[in-house]
Amino acid sequence: MATLHEPTIATDELRPTHLEVDLARLAENYRVIARHVAPARVMPILKANAYGHGLVEVARKLEAIGAPSIGVAYLEEGLHLRRQGIRMPVLVMGGLVGWQVPRFLEHDLTITASSVDKLRAIDEHAAVAGRPAKVHLKVDTGMERIGVHWYSAEPLLEASLRCRHVRVEGIFTHFANADGGDLAHARLQLERFQEVLAFYERRSLPTPLRHAANSGAILQLPESHFDLVRPGILFYGAGPSPETPATLPVRQALRWVTRVVYFKVVKPGNPVSYGSSWAPAELTRVVTLPAGYGDGYMRAMSGKAEVIVHGKRYPVVGRICMDQMMVSIGWDSAHNGDEAVLLGGEGDHAITIEELASWAGTIPHEVLTSINTRVPRVYRG
Ligand SMILES: *Cc1c(COP(=O)(O)O)cnc(C)c1O
Repeated sequence: MATLHEPTIATDELRPTHLEVDLARLAENYRVIARHVAPARVMPILKANAYGHGLVEVARKLEAIGAPSIGVAYLEEGLHLRRQGIRMPVLVMGGLVGWQVPRFLEHDLTITASSVDKLRAIDEHAAVAGRPAKVHLKVDTGMERIGVHWYSAEPLLEASLRCRHVRVEGIFTHFANADGGDLAHARLQLERFQEVLAFYERRSLPTPLRHAANSGAILQLPESHFDLVRPGILFYGAGPSPETPATLPVRQALRWVTRVVYFKVVKPGNPVSYGSSWAPAELTRVVTLPAGYGDGYMRAMSGKAEVIVHGKRYPVVGRICMDQMMVSIGWDSAHNGDEAVLLGGEGDHAITIEELASWAGTIPHEVLTSINTRVPRVYRG
């Protein structure tokens, strides 16, 4: 029985902390990258909950604007998309075990075949299922993660010609160092990939869709764009590393906000938070925000991070806790319920994904994938 005082808003809306996701901005980033790499096409990478942005919502937006395909890492991510009604081609790029294959076929997910054995298993399952498997062949040209080594790729390509229940739609590789200042290893990988691809020309066979470029290579190695590029972090509006900033006009699509839940004045010398690592030198106003490393606001940023309150930046002081953090506002004022911006914002003051990464001593990818599901997402655009 509903009582008179039962809240009429969803529990997500009760939380003063939100991650606002601007889907229109992601669509614009997609177009910016598409223009840059044309005539190559773009397959945005949506693994790890679309780098924290929300797997299904981002996929739906991309489907609506006519993106030809998307990539994820795991079978479960592909299955989740299908269950939520996403119909577009989805390439699952990660490694797989044999018993997963029937699920790929059942849900029309594109499989990464990374060895002759796996390709044969896929072919056998497809024969039983009575429907062809869509496959991209994976060649390892110097990452040593998954894929057949470039120097023994020919047997895989040959085997793929004999598999009667497999449709080879693509062939790809992945760079280990496309986002650094030194591109020597990336160029070597590119050469190795081209040697493997020559197989098709030698035999006058049509070449499947060739792809290699992640964000770093999209920015730095135009020769690697081939038929398709695979942007992750760049699609979400950040550069892959400090040496390789986002030189295309992409913009971040997130605004992470919370609200002041406590205000106090701290006397000089009285330490704030666990470990008592910081204390004010003079009488200081300190507010408490209800977000912490348990939401993905990384503890490693303690002593470095800043937030925006009333359009001005203030330092996070003392250790970041699991669910709360303290911010020194000097002698300015802030009240309970006032908004504090943890990421995003407009103009000169905006806090960027790259800044959070540098505070945490990590890469932008990890900043985004760390913002976990305890933070409610709010969508616009
Ligand atoms: C994650 C991933 C990408 C995207 O990488 P970014 O650096 O985020 O652009 C592309 N291809 C593969 C195989 C990946 O695993």
